[in-house]
Parts: sequence; structure tokens; C-alpha cells
Amino acid sequence: MIRAADLGDEPPIRVMALHALLYCERLFYLEEVEEIRVADGNVYAGRRLHLERVSLDDETPEMRSYDVSSEAWGVVGKVDAVRKRDGVWIAYEHKKGRCRRGESNEPLAWPSDRIQAVAYAVLVEEQLGEPVKQARVRYHADNVTVLLDIDDAARNDLRTAIRRARVLRESTERPPVTENTRLCPKCSLAVVCLPEEERLALDHADELPPRLFPSSRERHTLHVTTAKTRVGRSGESLLVESETGKQKIPIEQIDSILIHGYGQLTTQALHLCAYRGVAVDWLTFGGRFMAGTSASPGRVQQRIRQYRALTNEALCLDLSRRTVHAKVESQLKYLLRASRTDGAVRQSIQEPIDRIRAALSKVDQAAGIDSLRGLEGIAAKDYFAALPRLLSSRIDPQLIPNGRSKHPPEDRFNALLSFGYGMLFALVHRTLLGVGLEPALGFFHQPRSAAPPLVMDVVEIFRVPLVDMPVVGSVNRNQWNPDSDFTIAGRQVWLSDDGRKKAIALFEERLTEMYRHPFTSQSMSYARIVELESRLLEKEWSNAPGLYARMRMR
Ligand code: SF4
Repeated sequence: MIRAADLGDEPPIRVMALHALLYCERLFYLEEVEEIRVADGNVYAGRRLHLERVSLDDETPEMRSYDVSSEAWGVVGKVDAVRKRDGVWIAYEHKKGRCRRGESNEPLAWPSDRIQAVAYAVLVEEQLGEPVKQARVRYHADNVTVLLDIDDAARNDLRTAIRRARVLRESTERPPVTENTRLCPKCSLAVVCLPEEERLALDHADELPPRLFPSSRERHTLHVTTAKTRVGRSGESLLVESETGKQKIPIEQIDSILIHGYGQLTTQALHLCAYRGVAVDWLTFGGRFMAGTSASPGRVQQRIRQYRALTNEALCLDLSRRTVHAKVESQLKYLLRASRTDGAVRQSIQEPIDRIRAALSKVDQAAGIDSLRGLEGIAAKDYFAALPRLLSSRIDPQLIPNGRSKHPPEDRFNALLSFGYGMLFALVHRTLLGVGLEPALGFFHQPRSAAPPLVMDVVEIFRVPLVDMPVVGSVNRNQWNPDSDFTIAGRQVWLSDDGRKKAIALFEERLTEMYRHPFTSQSMSYARIVELESRLLEKEWSNAPGLYARMRMR
């Protein structure tokens, strides 16, 4: 047994965490150390099973959902049921799946289920002060009950598991992905862990394309665009009241709220968002990011790894080169692609294209961050000089920009770009917070303004596909009314209420469009690609470097 004195101030280990440990050490670490928990379909099915089936199966349990804890073992949990049969106590654990089979097809408990049942048995024994010599694991899918002896070997295995759990809790390194690839498809944290991407990177092998990362967005962003709109709470729903009426939206349909300008959000609604992990961001009417919330838990170990990594100059330079390469290559490819069928347009932008190509060829050898900034600046100047040539000759001349102007935008086209970049910024900001990264510590941009550098770094690889391309396309399709969609105030040009609604719809539509990620070869929505790249960025300093910023335009 582990002595209480050995535990010091350590919090007890949950029996469920021991189950995770025996399933996969990486899963234990993500849940217990990084505090990342995702309740997926399997988890909900398991909870339903405990609510619905456990009571039916155990007709006469003396105790059901019985809380157990032991200071001596340093473990707490809740056992499904405890029964007394023939004068002997037995701990029961229920599982919705199938049992494991031995060499002669005999039913066995899975190692993770076994350690869980053993832990419950020894905790019940201590709590009741009477011997518990057996635990039973009931597998509902194949209607099998496996009997486990609570002997010295079982207690030794429990002791070993607890010791290992304590070692991992002290570690700042994520354990590697499991070698048993069959475990990952059933793992609730596959979407966070990205095991297939990591294996692909580490093996350098052409394996099956990864499929564990979900391809489309499951929830939506609620945009509040007018000051007269109020978002309140009604039970587990958001209640949106505006001049056009009331709408009740279940919170599980929403992943974020964007308040453009001065729309109202009640404290009750904010509480609901915080509790359900819904990010809230405030933008100015011009699309500039003001502030945001995130309900992501502390994730201290993740932050420690990020601080350690991003104070390494060599790593920062490498990530910066890759980011600038991805951005400039996307700019170049977009100019080439958009001018490929029009010889006159291509000819008119050939010189900028050549200069961008020359700058791109030097990016990978750039000696430092300053030289990279210089190359990025050259490419940006030529890119924004060439961009107006991609606009159709049939559009209203008021929509043609005169170079790039920002803070404030001085023409309609730049107002559209700035508004789009603001929404992109907010998206990346809440995505980084959601995956547990610290937005204030970046690798390329410096903390000179209020804008968090890491957000600015990641935004770079998405400007062309998520903002520039849709904006140019929509202008060429004559989707904008130069009068009613814009507000002119001296030299400043902003979007009007109508224009803002159209720009939001354009951005949201783009986020749902599918694109095949060049590295993983998986088709997924752009919204998911932003999340994937954010998670791959973290892998640069967590076991699997070299995956970030492979996103490219074709
Ligand atoms: S996805 Fe696979 S490697 Fe990652 S935590 Fe789950 S089981 Fe472990």
C-alpha cells in the first residue's frame, strides 16, 4: 500500500484516471495533467448505460453509485454497484462494450477495466472494513460477466499503476502515442491527440490518410451585429432578442459568439457560455478584435512547454521561415491561378510575380527574423499591387483599391479586407485558446501592440484562402453595393450594417467549404483546418515537429 505520508499535498487519483492510464498513458496525461476532457458519443453512451442498465441488472445491490476513497491508497472513485452474495461483498463494474477473449476464447477483462474493478474492490474493502475478495466486470454488448480475484497480484498491479500515474503527473512531457493503433478510433481525445498525424510524421510513411480528426464543423458562430440586439439566457439556451423578434438557440449548437460593436450579452448568458466552453469575442464595428474570453482550463503543463519552446531562438526562426514560406507561396499561387486564363492580366502582373518568386526562394535561407520580415514585406507590397488586376473590368470602379490601406481602410475593397482579417483574427484567437496555447507568446511577431503575437503568426497562413480569395471573388460577382454596403466618414471607409451582414455570411460560408489538407490528405472544412494547424503547431514542441504550416493553396 502507498503510505499517506508519501502523498504529501498531492490530490488523490481518480479510479477513472487509472482506467485511462491502462488504456493509454497519453490519454491519462491529456486528461489528468493537461485537463482536457471531451465527452463524445461513447462517453454519453457509457453514462446512459450506467443510468439505464445498471439498475436493471443489479436487482438487489446493497449500494449503487457508491462513493469510495482511501487516503492510504491516494485514490477516489464511484463504484457502479456493491452486492453481498453468500455473505461476501462483491464490487461490480459495468461496460457497454465486449469483453476481451483469451487464447481458448475464454472471457477476460480488458487491462484498463480490470484495474478499475480492482481499485473499486480494495477501496470498498477499506471503507466497509470487511474483506472484498472478488470484483465483477459486466460486459453488456456480449452479455458476459468476468470474475476477478482480489488477491496479492491484483493489489500489486494496482500499486504499480498508482505509482506510474504519480510519475506521469509530475512530468512536463506528453507520453508518445500508443503503439496499439486499434485503441485510437475509440478514444474520446483522438481529436486533440491527432495520433495518425503524429505517426505519419514520425514514420515518414505513406500510410492510410488520417480520419480521426473530424472533417466538418459541428457547431456555429453566433454573430451579434447591432447594438439593439440582446443575448440572454433561457435555461440551457441562448435567447436572442432583436428588432426583428426573438430566437432561442440551444447552447450545444454554438461554439462561439462574436459581438460586432455594442450588442448586449447578459451575465447569465456569459455564465452559460463559460460553463459550456463557448468563446465570446468582441470586435469593433470595423472588425478590429477588442477582447475575448475562453473557458479553457489552466493547462499549465502545456503552457510550460510552449514557454520553453518559444524562448528557443532556433525554433522560432524555423517556425517563422515556414510561416512566411506558407504565406508568400499562397500569395504567389493565388496570383498565378487567378491570372492563368487571361494573358493580358498575367502580363500586367508578371513583374510582381517574379519579385514575389525571388523573395520566396530566399525565405528558407533567411538568416534571421529581420531578414524574413524584409522578404515578407517585399512580397506583400507586390502582392497588394497586383491584387487589383485580378478584379473584373466590369465591376464598379469604386470597388477598385488603391494599394493596401488599414487603420483605417481608405477604400471599399480595403474595408472588406480589414473586416475579414478581423474575423480571421478572432477565429484564430479563440482556436488557440481552445487548444490550450498562450496567444501572447509567439515566434515571429513581436509584442509591440495589443495584438497577441501568436495569433498574428498563425493568421498569416490563412489570410489568402480565408479572406483575400473570397473577397476578390465576391467583388467580381458584383455582390457588393458601393453605396448601401459601405459608410464613408472623411477618408475612412467602413462597412454599413448591410455590408457587415454580407461580409459575415461570406466568411462563415468560406469556413464551411471543404479543402484537402496537403499534408494529411484529408478533406475538411477551412474551420477545421484552422483548428488542425493550431494543434499541429503545438506538436512542434510536443513529440512530433515538422507538421505545422504545411497548409498551401494549390
Ligand atoms: S488517440 Fe490514441 S494515442 Fe491518443 S490518447 Fe487516445 S488512445 Fe492514446
